[in-house]
Amino acid sequence: TVGAVALDAAGGLAAGTSTGGMMNKRWGRVGDSPIIGAGTWADERCGVSGTGWGEYYIRTHAASAVCERMKYLNEHPAQAGQAVINEEIPRLGGDGGAIVLSATGEFAFPFNTDGMFRGWIGADGIPHVAIFADEIMTGD
Ligand code: ASP
Repeated sequence: TVGAVALDAAGGLAAGTSTGGMMNKRWGRVGDSPIIGAGTWADERCGVSGTGWGEYYIRTHAASAVCERMKYLNEHPAQAGQAVINEEIPRLGGDGGAIVLSATGEFAFPFNTDGMFRGWIGADGIPHVAIFADEIMTGD
């Protein structure tokens, strides 16, 4: 799975996620990546791209849940990411990670899998584009 979140000069946010799915997946299975709110979300306050055990990302609407916490609970990306990615999903039995970026340039890259490659480019310590790649679940 690969994902990206981008912040433009006007504070606009965008997110995208692409996956090959899980190894030995059932025919016809739809993972979290193409479901807006599960593996991918962007609104005026927050952009999230994530991956992991997709059924749990769908069940918790992980990406939009992170943004809702930032919007309604006024949480920092690190707090919101911690609550959803590192607490709620593992409590239900899932795992994974995400990249989270706010319109003001606050960001967090929470994850709890064995490995998730992440990076960003930007200016003044603020990512303008953050990316991740995950090869743990898919093997590709
Ligand atoms: N999130 C993907 C899925 O459930 C799997 C992965 O790449 O980690 O389809």
